[in-house]
Amino acid sequence: MNAVTARIIDGKAIAADLRAAVKAETARLTEAHGLVPGLAVILVGDNAASKTYVASKSRALVEVGMRPFDHHLAAETSEQALLSLIERLNADPAVSGILVQLPLPAQISPARVIATIHPDKDVDGFHPLNAGRLMTHLPALVPCTPIACIKLIGTVYPSLLGVDALMVGRSHIVGNPLSQMLLNENATVTVAHTHTRNLPDLCRRAELLCVAIGSPEFIRGDWIRPGATVIDVGINRVVRDGKSRIVGDVNYAEAREVAGAITPVPGGVGPLTIVCLLDNTLRAACMQAGLPAPAV
Ligand code: NDP
Repeated sequence: MNAVTARIIDGKAIAADLRAAVKAETARLTEAHGLVPGLAVILVGDNAASKTYVASKSRALVEVGMRPFDHHLAAETSEQALLSLIERLNADPAVSGILVQLPLPAQISPARVIATIHPDKDVDGFHPLNAGRLMTHLPALVPCTPIACIKLIGTVYPSLLGVDALMVGRSHIVGNPLSQMLLNENATVTVAHTHTRNLPDLCRRAELLCVAIGSPEFIRGDWIRPGATVIDVGINRVVRDGKSRIVGDVNYAEAREVAGAITPVPGGVGPLTIVCLLDNTLRAACMQAGLPAPAV
């Protein structure tokens, strides 16, 4: 029988520690400066998964002493009406951050929406200015999921200098910013996508394997270099034996017998991502008030 070799990276525990630090820093900011960080969360339409995400974000904000401003718009809302709302929120000093839940209905261009959010309130880190700042090593608001990945990787590697890293996936939300952050940390980064040849062999070379492709259990155990660190960003709902379950992009049962450390799904990247959103909201609030970045 095979043995589990991998250290399981406990995203929930790491998220709990960060949440406590963000809560303490928020209380300090409110006490010292009368400042309550506020996040406007905009949901357009009735997508069930989006409604759940938005509700959990609002709960998480209240738990750490921040203020949620929820805006639920009808599915047939025009692009102009949404852009006008964003402009109003851009000008509202009580709003530190603005998040528009994706996906959006077909009549609304996500690119125009993202470009309309003020870069200093762009807590998702999707605005082209923030993406460019990340690339050019300037202070930026950075997407939450890649930040979560970097924090989880930091529990394994004190330094990424020279580490052979493979990023599978190149979306603007996860793969691209994460590969840039790994590069900024001096890892040697390869990025794989749907046109990559011989992905299994590339995976076998990686000391650090990060996967964000949205394909259930696609990465197999025998693709993984023994002792490698595996960060599985995927969240995929599958039905197995008549039961609905969430699985990652990596075959966890196989991978944990080969890897040195691995994030589980659920319980890895996901729980930390939402706390990184709180952290970004705190950062945005400090930046707008001309205060130094929070010490969390
Ligand atoms: P996208 O669909 O936007 O991007 C997927 C990327 O993976 C693309 O770059 C695509 O390549 C690449 N890809 C897809 N299939 C393959 C393959 N077989 N081999 C190599 N590359 C492949 O997805 P996201 O980045 O938004 O999300 C990825 C996963 O992460 C999803 O499961 C999502 O639910 C999850 N997620 C989890 C979050 C969390 O908080 N834990 C947050 C965000 C996402 P190409 O560019 O060539 O098309």
